[in-house]
Amino acid sequence: MRILITAGPTREFIDPVRYISNSSTGFFGYQIARQALRRGHKVVLVSGPTHLAPPKGARFIQVVSALQMKSAVERFFRKADCLIMAAAVADYRPEKFRPSKIKKNKDSLLIRLRRNPDILSGIRKGKGIKRIIGFALETGDLIRNAQKKLDSKNLDFIVATLLCKGSEPFGDKKVKVVVLKRDGKREEIFSSKAGISSFILDKAENE
Ligand code: C5P
Repeated sequence: MRILITAGPTREFIDPVRYISNSSTGFFGYQIARQALRRGHKVVLVSGPTHLAPPKGARFIQVVSALQMKSAVERFFRKADCLIMAAAVADYRPEKFRPSKIKKNKDSLLIRLRRNPDILSGIRKGKGIKRIIGFALETGDLIRNAQKKLDSKNLDFIVATLLCKGSEPFGDKKVKVVVLKRDGKREEIFSSKAGISSFILDKAENE
């Protein structure tokens, strides 16, 4: 298969120095990319800023913002059989980019944010793409929230993780995920991200 994978956070710059982002390390998406390459798939990896080395053999596209990630996905998805959207895309960006560094004159500072477009919602299955897989990280109501995303983003399945105190899922560690499918079936797995990546790829290849 030709697999398009997104990974990592996006950064939404406020001024030349500061940005809004999230805690994603990119580890999961890079693991999926590595394993997909090992299985002989062709991989395009679209990545936000991370500290990880690009997997050897992948076409590696570096982006910073959600808008850049959207353009990169739109550029490559038509040539892909499968899209795995593991990136933690920032939901909002500053409405205005200040070209010079903001000075700390006042006691409070208001930054107006604007909603970023949802990349997955803009993707329609077409001639090439047969599988679309999304991720969801929730702080509560895991199944209901993930189900909503599965439906609204028109996904084949969604890999949902609960973030709770004492079990942060970021980086190289074992996590518990629930995989929800369109037919309402769900599977729970607790494993390393390598183990979960392999589980996801089995599904992408066979179901
Ligand atoms: O951020 P959210 O929980 O909605 O993310 C669920 C899925 O949607 C993830 O696969 C993520 O990569 C994708 N997403 C997206 N465009 C956004 C936000 C999230 O494609 N602007």
